[in-house]
Amino acid sequence: MYIRRFDPWKNELCSCPTKYSLNPYTGCAHGCIYCYASCYIKDFFRCREKPRIIESLRKDIKKVPIGSLISLCNTSDPYPPMEKEKIITRRCLEIFKEYEMKVLIITKSDLVCRDIDLLKDMQTAVTITITTLKYHEKLEPYAPNPFNRLKALEKLNKEGIPTGLRLDPIIPMVNEEEIEEILQLASYTGVKHVTTSTFKPRWDSWKRLISVFPNLSNKLENLYLIKGQRIGNSYYLNSTLRENMISKIKEICISLSLSFSTCRENLPNYINSKSCDGSHLIEGEV
Ligand code: SF4
Repeated sequence: MYIRRFDPWKNELCSCPTKYSLNPYTGCAHGCIYCYASCYIKDFFRCREKPRIIESLRKDIKKVPIGSLISLCNTSDPYPPMEKEKIITRRCLEIFKEYEMKVLIITKSDLVCRDIDLLKDMQTAVTITITTLKYHEKLEPYAPNPFNRLKALEKLNKEGIPTGLRLDPIIPMVNEEEIEEILQLASYTGVKHVTTSTFKPRWDSWKRLISVFPNLSNKLENLYLIKGQRIGNSYYLNSTLRENMISKIKEICISLSLSFSTCRENLPNYINSKSCDGSHLIEGEV
């Protein structure tokens, strides 16, 4: 069954509402160096179609209660470059529409705008991830340009589709200084909600980060491996540092009248919205 109850590897820090999850593709071609999914899925950066996805989804969807929340996607991007030709995500959306599902889209691609005609008639919200305006060629080498993502947010909002910004992950000394600018630009587009989190590397994403920013290697090692903490298989910054980083983002969000949440930080005082993933936007709640 390709559509499954969302259960991020039984992570106790996950505060997501009950939802289902579907990844129309296996792997992702965007090549983000900080990607967490690459440690779970073999050959992750080689994006490929799931065999007989549409036929399977047509069967699976009958086992999901009508009106359920479906997250698209959590371990890949629903709009990789090959979606332009394959049109698989759009066909999944058509099935979700038929079964009156609520759909939360999480993407880095402005290709989502192709499906505005469909999304307008659905209970949906779109969250777009923007982590940097300067270092996208290093951090997200094959994802669409972040300014195109901002334009996509603007377009979606103009069409009445609620949107959120995923400002995650924040990587110390890499994209911290851009936070305020990204939040301001996103708020101009009409975004209503922000989900943010700090970078929590596993070994593979850690090695990629260090190879791309070798000059920061000692400082990052000090923050993560010496002063940080290990939770499960991930390395976290220590909680005081995370709290400082997140509280600054919260203040900016409040000043811009944006609702705000964190993802798996275990900082409950830093969530002022009705959901951590932005799914409350589907109901028009902010
Ligand atoms: S877009 Fe998402 S799934 Fe794809 S590589 Fe980047 S972080 Fe991973």
